[in-house]
Amino acid sequence: MDYQTILYLLIGILTFDFLLNKVLGILNNKSRKQPIPVELDGIYDEEKYTKSQAYQAEVFRFSIISSTFSFLLMLLVLWLGGFGWLDEYLRGLASVEPLTSLYFFGVVYFASDLIGIPFDIYGTFVIEEKYGFNKMTAKTFVLDKLKGYVLTLIIGGIIAALFIVLVMFFEENFWIYFWVAISVFMIFINMFYTSLIIPLFNKLSPLEDGELKSAITNYSQTVNFPLNNIFVIDGSKRSSKGNAFFSGLGKKKKVVLYDTLIEKHTNEELVGVLAHEVGHFKKKHIIWSMLLSILQTGFMLWLLSKFIFSSEISWALGGNVTALHLNVFAFAILFSPISTIIGMFMNLFSRKNEYEADAYAVKTYKKEPLITALKKLTSDSLGNLTPHPWYEFMNYSHPSLLKRIRAMQAIK
Ligand SMILES: [Zn+2]
Repeated sequence: MDYQTILYLLIGILTFDFLLNKVLGILNNKSRKQPIPVELDGIYDEEKYTKSQAYQAEVFRFSIISSTFSFLLMLLVLWLGGFGWLDEYLRGLASVEPLTSLYFFGVVYFASDLIGIPFDIYGTFVIEEKYGFNKMTAKTFVLDKLKGYVLTLIIGGIIAALFIVLVMFFEENFWIYFWVAISVFMIFINMFYTSLIIPLFNKLSPLEDGELKSAITNYSQTVNFPLNNIFVIDGSKRSSKGNAFFSGLGKKKKVVLYDTLIEKHTNEELVGVLAHEVGHFKKKHIIWSMLLSILQTGFMLWLLSKFIFSSEISWALGGNVTALHLNVFAFAILFSPISTIIGMFMNLFSRKNEYEADAYAVKTYKKEPLITALKKLTSDSLGNLTPHPWYEFMNYSHPSLLKRIRAMQAIK
């Protein structure tokens, strides 16, 4: 394929992806205006329903504006050969080729992050603020950004450097070595996420003794699942939206509850939510998701190894010479239709797991508290009760509230 055709292909893929997302978004935006299903009756009162409709409309409008902006910017840069220009400029600064690649990855990352900042600020301090979700101060916002940059510089820098070195030494076979390294890294992060990364951004404190703790301990004994590490995270520092998650593997696993979740739910509801999370563990969902993402990464790297030395791809981005970083960048676009399809299957798998975890919670604990907890979580975040089926199929990692409740009600 000559470089001109590749450029058109890249633009075609970006355009298709953009239009697909817009069509699904528009369908979903229409779908939210449907009457509330009977099973969800009473979830919103009149005032809150109006508020939820306004919130979703505003979030949708904003997403159209920001995605259109980045789509057009990307087309413009591709069309004008901006990446080739950047490559040539950095080549003048760097003494050796591997450094050019490293600089290139850095510049593209920071440039796209900086461009996104005004949108971040508007989303957080205007939209989320208006609906009472935002609890973040300007100081937290700035500190988060700075800490994020330092982390990216260190972790991203090491990963990128390793990638470049492996490509230099092993050429097309680099993918096997890099795959092993990145898999080990993914497992490492999963195991130490709560002890290494979270404390940089939040305060984690052990759950104090009391009714909630004994309710959790009682439940965990009935299912023979020791829960000794229960932590509370100060999610209220950033948002009023609540959450809970498990982290780590084997005996080191920790349960993390958001303070905002504890505040708004009864002990029974919280145990119901935890029982659902225990279900994910017992049904081996965590291990399987990990394995699937490792396999997916391997496939992607193998495919990348077929493209990484192509001169035509570098030329398509406006480069004068064959450059690893230009090809990685183009590959990310070429791979996106495949990644959309993989993502669709991953969501399908994830939704199946959610039903299983719900069923586990119903069977080992109770039905009603989990249902009311899920209703509260949706109404507190002003969520969409009637998403469009196509949008849900492509984008939802969890089944819609209505489907989860129906599935739970059907359990004897
Ligand atoms: Zn779940």
